[in-house]
Amino acid sequence: MKRNIYLDIDGVIRGCASPKEDIEEFLWYCLDNYPDSIYWLTTHCNHGVNRAPEAIQDEFSKELVDALSKQVKATEWEVLKTDGIDKDQDFVWFDDNLFESERQVLKAYYVDDGFFRMNPKDPEMAKKALNHLKSLEQERDA
Ligand SMILES: [Mg+2]
Repeated sequence: MKRNIYLDIDGVIRGCASPKEDIEEFLWYCLDNYPDSIYWLTTHCNHGVNRAPEAIQDEFSKELVDALSKQVKATEWEVLKTDGIDKDQDFVWFDDNLFESERQVLKAYYVDDGFFRMNPKDPEMAKKALNHLKSLEQERDA
C-alpha cells in the first residue's frame, strides 16, 4: 500500500539542530522513495496558498529546492493540520508540534501511529526520521 509523507517545515527541515547534510539526505530519500506522495503540511502552505518553495529556497541546494518545489504537493487545511491528511492512506507526518485537538482527530481515526515527532533541538533528529522511514519499508518488504 502506498504511503503518504507529510512534511512540516519550521523545526523539522529548517530551524533545527540537525546538520544540513542529514536533512538533505532525508529529503532526497523522501523524493526518491515517495516521488508522488509527499505533501507540505506547514503554515507556509495553507488557506489554499503554497508558499513552501519560498520558505525553503535559501535553505538547500538549488537542485534540492527545485526537486521539492516540483514534487511536493500542497495540502488543503485551515485550522487543524489533520484536515490536510488523508486518513484512509498509510502516512507518516513529520512535525515538531501536535495540538491536543489534532491528536484527538488522529486517535478517532486510529491513525495516531502515523505521527512522528521531530525534536528541533536534537542534532540526530534528521537521521532518526530517515531511519524511521527505512524501518517502515523493511517492515513492508518482510
Ligand atoms: Mg513546526
